[in-house]
Amino acid sequence: MLLKGGTLMHLHPPALARADLRVEGDTVVARAARLTPKPGEAVEDCRGRLVLPGLVCAHTHMYSALSRGMPAPASAPKSFPDMLGRVWWRLDQALTDEAIYYSAMVGAVEAVKAGTTTIIDHHASPDAIPGSLDIIREAFGVVGVRGVLCYEVTDRGGMRRRDAGLAENDRFLTATRADTQFRGLVGAHASFTLRESSLAALGDLARYHRAGIHIHVAEATDDEERTRRAHGAGVVDRLERHGLLNDRAVLAHGVHLAERDIARVTAAGAWLVHNPRSNMNNAVGHAPVETFGERAALGTDGWPADMLAELRFAHFREREHLGPRRAYPAAALLQGGQDLASEIFGAPFGSLMPGSAADLVVCDYVPPTPLTAANLAGHLVAGVQPETFTGVMAAGRWVCRDGVPLNIDVDAVYCRARQLAATLWRRMRG
Ligand SMILES: [Zn+2]
Repeated sequence: MLLKGGTLMHLHPPALARADLRVEGDTVVARAARLTPKPGEAVEDCRGRLVLPGLVCAHTHMYSALSRGMPAPASAPKSFPDMLGRVWWRLDQALTDEAIYYSAMVGAVEAVKAGTTTIIDHHASPDAIPGSLDIIREAFGVVGVRGVLCYEVTDRGGMRRRDAGLAENDRFLTATRADTQFRGLVGAHASFTLRESSLAALGDLARYHRAGIHIHVAEATDDEERTRRAHGAGVVDRLERHGLLNDRAVLAHGVHLAERDIARVTAAGAWLVHNPRSNMNNAVGHAPVETFGERAALGTDGWPADMLAELRFAHFREREHLGPRRAYPAAALLQGGQDLASEIFGAPFGSLMPGSAADLVVCDYVPPTPLTAANLAGHLVAGVQPETFTGVMAAGRWVCRDGVPLNIDVDAVYCRARQLAATLWRRMRG
């Protein structure tokens, strides 16, 4: 396929260039000012429209898709762990195979409509563990989005479930070792729900597969406090002790990491994922994202995988926190997600250069003011909306056109999702 006359965007450092792109399979194979169509080649005339590299959601939970509008607990949770126990751990425990499938479908539909072509998911379903990652993979495959999946290992459901979670990660990592659309990470809930032997098993698994851990870190104050009480060491100490603090690690949140621990995390090259909407919604505090360094990305942590919406929250929150005199390049967090995907898949994402992933968004955004590389971030924060996306391509295939996902019957999926959500909510109360 040939995409002619697009204005190709690079997010960070920001760049714009008018060029043609040739896509073969799931890869960009050529880029030049003018490419001539080959006989029989499909041609997409971009007519100067912006072409963004496909966006990456670096941390989320697809199973949250069926929680929208869910009744709140009878009395307000007293703390973040109280909310986990009374809302989120009840939700994941009520999940069935079919609910996992439809939540992943709904989440993937919302993602591609918003130009998100890779989802790094963190899954839990304590009563439906074996094969759960394959169910998400199947749903993502139907919609056409790429996925980096893991099962969140925890001690909270007992040793049998812990071991089933480890086995699910092991199985999926083996199955996707050379896959171009799906990869695995070693999933873990959080330090405060993992005993020493569990972290040791996670470390063994990560070493065996040369994969990173994907874990919540210092989301609320409780993670560090409970970890210190139970183990006499901090969250970062424990990750380091078990060989899990390295440049493949994906650490979500870091809201309450001490300055010294952030320095250790960044020195190790671990990724930190900022989730501003979730942090605000859970009132866990403000992540010191301005200190996260270059290996930082943006996640949605259960909110729809609309990365431009998340970007706006990141931007406004940092502006309020830092004041107008310190510029914080929130758009760099989007590039961070693409760089993280590049490392996981072992191929460039986010560059739209020959050899890179053919994941992109054609955007009919008409700027009312001059648009240059220098002010690209301003247009992303204040102007570009998913409603202007005319085409979203993932792994070399169009997956959404003018806001309509191409590969599924969205009405049928949403109809079944509503039925399953109602059943899920009843099961949670039961
Ligand atoms: Zn999370």
